[in-house]
Amino acid sequence: MTRAGIGYDSHRLAAGRRLVIGGVQLPSELGLAGHSDADVLAHALIDALLGAAGLGDIGERFPDSDERWRDADSIELLQSVVASVIGEGLQIVNADCTVVMEAPKLAPHRQAIRERLASALGLEVALVNVKASSGEGIGFVGRGEGVAALAIVSLRQLG
Ligand SMILES: [Zn+2]
Repeated sequence: MTRAGIGYDSHRLAAGRRLVIGGVQLPSELGLAGHSDADVLAHALIDALLGAAGLGDIGERFPDSDERWRDADSIELLQSVVASVIGEGLQIVNADCTVVMEAPKLAPHRQAIRERLASALGLEVALVNVKASSGEGIGFVGRGEGVAALAIVSLRQLG
């Protein structure tokens, strides 16, 4: 049996913050605001995994109100979710993601992001796809106010 899960996240761009996308810090004057490192792509992927496994969502698991998650490395959060998914007797089959961001361009960092996420997911790089989309100058992404990410994963029940 195969199970699919979807994830979506967005964060506001702000001065004095790092821009971390899929565990990779991108050069940028603005970064993403949030309680953790605000890694929008890692968060979308976490929600996709939790969704596919029927384990709720990121807000339940890592509440903003909990000081434990302040400035948290979202790749570590992702790894803990991967462990929970495997603990349910599920195997991750593949992941596909889209980052919706006006600037900077994702393309030069795409391979590094794929490798970082593949390592966290315990998958071969070929099974983790990362796509880039821009805001085309409209909406909160197009105005450079924030970044969004979408992810889908599929899981297979073992045994
Ligand atoms: Zn988030």
